Amino acid sequence: MADRNDTIFGMILRGEIPADIVYEDELAIAFRDIAPQADVHVLVIPRDPVKSLAHAGPGDRALLGHLLGVCTAVAEQEGIAGSGYRVVTNIGGDGGQSVDHLHFHVLGGRRMGWPPG
Ligand code: AMP
Repeated sequence: MADRNDTIFGMILRGEIPADIVYEDELAIAFRDIAPQADVHVLVIPRDPVKSLAHAGPGDRALLGHLLGVCTAVAEQEGIAGSGYRVVTNIGGDGGQSVDHLHFHVLGGRRMGWPPG
């Protein structure tokens, strides 16, 4: 069952704290990460506060596809689609998740390392 809660991203969604929003639609918003790890670092989040990818239920599959589409649209918009980029979602403690609201990091504008740290 999907697990939903409130976080600092909920505050951004409600306009209670500012964010540099680069894209929004009825299901998702995208805004610049406050501590960017690359020239382009945008977070794509659903308006529905699903806690993480692991908490997305069967009813969220269309939403997940939509969010990935937003990631590619943001990459186009940010001018990194041609050079390449990375889409990452961290899950739980070992995954490095610090905000319990599903988000996809869209990172680009520099060569990414592998394996990730
Ligand atoms: P994660 O560690 O994968 O959960 O990613 C959470 C991301 O949210 C981090 O990269 C933070 O820098 C970013 N972040 C936290 N608070 C804000 C905020 N108020 N506005 C924009 N990005 C934020």
